[in-house]
Amino acid sequence: MKKDLVSRRKFLKKCLNATGTGLVLGTSYALIKRSTATDYVWQIDPYKCVQCERCSTDCVLSISAVKCVHSFDMCGYCKLCYGYFKPSFYKMETGAENQLCPTGAIQRKFIENPFYEYTIDYDQCIGCPQCVKACGMFGNRSLYLQVSHQYCLNCNECSIGKNCPSGAFKRIPVEKAFLLKGLT
Ligand code: SF4
Ligand code: SF4
Ligand code: SF4
Repeated sequence: MKKDLVSRRKFLKKCLNATGTGLVLGTSYALIKRSTATDYVWQIDPYKCVQCERCSTDCVLSISAVKCVHSFDMCGYCKLCYGYFKPSFYKMETGAENQLCPTGAIQRKFIENPFYEYTIDYDQCIGCPQCVKACGMFGNRSLYLQVSHQYCLNCNECSIGKNCPSGAFKRIPVEKAFLLKGLT
């Protein structure tokens, strides 16, 4: 029975990863169109980011261009996701009082017992990054911060990049466009 669940989980992950990749790469076309005048774009190395929170406060935009991204490929599809639930949640359901995210940007969708899928509404995400920290402590580190090309103004001198304490915030060639986790 356990073996069946594991195989089913792998199958689900494979299918959903295809969807997730499509969503992420769906924005790359817009990026390349917007960036024809420049050779480099800002991205975060997700393996260097220490979630210091400057990404949510230092962007010149009133709501940061840095968003949480979810790698479906790495997600454990946990029923009890600490990126989604507050440590002191009342019930394992979608009530606002149970959610860790301060803006309700994480959407929890039932897939098939016992699997749930977590997706980010980028318009709501402020890059705070509470969910990323919790996923790093208790989960598979499938939630991480990344600069969204849909929102980023590609400032010559990024105010976040100037102060990033870990050297995670950097320029990369526009042909590469994204530093993503879990898509290899
Ligand atoms: S400033 Fe650097 S270390 Fe801090 S959250 Fe942003 S990318 Fe991560
Ligand atoms: S907890 Fe913070 S980083 Fe995570 S989805 Fe919500 S606003 Fe974005
Ligand atoms: S380049 Fe500008 S808009 Fe983009 S993240 Fe940095 S400060 Fe924000």
